[in-house]
Amino acid sequence: MVDTRDLKSRGPCARASSILALGTKFKRVCDTCRKPFFSYVLKTIYISDNMEKYQGVKFLHRQSKTTFSYDQRLQNLNHWAYLFSQLGLAPVHEGGAYGNHSYRTGKTSFVITKSAMIPGKILKSEDYCHVVAFEEQSATIIFEGMFPPSSESFLHLALYQSLPHINSILHGHCSPFNDHAEALNISVTKKFYDYGTPELAQSALDLVDQTTLFFILKDHGFVALGEDINSAGKLTLNYFSKLISLLSLD
Ligand SMILES: [Zn+2]
Repeated sequence: MVDTRDLKSRGPCARASSILALGTKFKRVCDTCRKPFFSYVLKTIYISDNMEKYQGVKFLHRQSKTTFSYDQRLQNLNHWAYLFSQLGLAPVHEGGAYGNHSYRTGKTSFVITKSAMIPGKILKSEDYCHVVAFEEQSATIIFEGMFPPSSESFLHLALYQSLPHINSILHGHCSPFNDHAEALNISVTKKFYDYGTPELAQSALDLVDQTTLFFILKDHGFVALGEDINSAGKLTLNYFSKLISLLSLD
């Protein structure tokens, strides 16, 4: 779906927009320094009509520590998170970025992007947190880090529980993938569910088997699975390149 909106334009004093977009150029003045700059009425391609506006996490959560330990994998994860945001595969919006990414640290534990995270080129560990446990009785996610984990932590948890050979999950939003799933031979979940719900996670479990590595959450976004972070990232770029060929009408 193509959604046309005048996203709040950023002037010289604010972050540059990294959204993949086409649009009409027009002159504006920065609210802060009053310098003139050029802005665009954006035609973005990242949101479907069904998607609910982001309103934060929908699960109970409890912080057990403000820090967590990490290694080179976090640099790799940040590399892909940033790249996806730049390529329009997990575009930035005013409250964060449409996507969430993780790597496994244990049977049911994983490092994941924080809720409403905007990826930066340089890794900031506080943009991530470590989900260490899920208390079933109280349906509470226990995490280490400065901020609550991504709203799709249920989805990541469910996939790690069901697919022991999978060590990384990258999730982004790119409507052309949804629109051309059949042509690209990508499987799609049966029904749309709101983001961050156990029903959405269950719909993914109903679709995947031990060989699934790339699929689409209906009218929502894609999910790439990998033995490691880089293979999930490269697989996504592979599908993206097929998508671009398809859209080029050659
Ligand atoms: Zn999503």
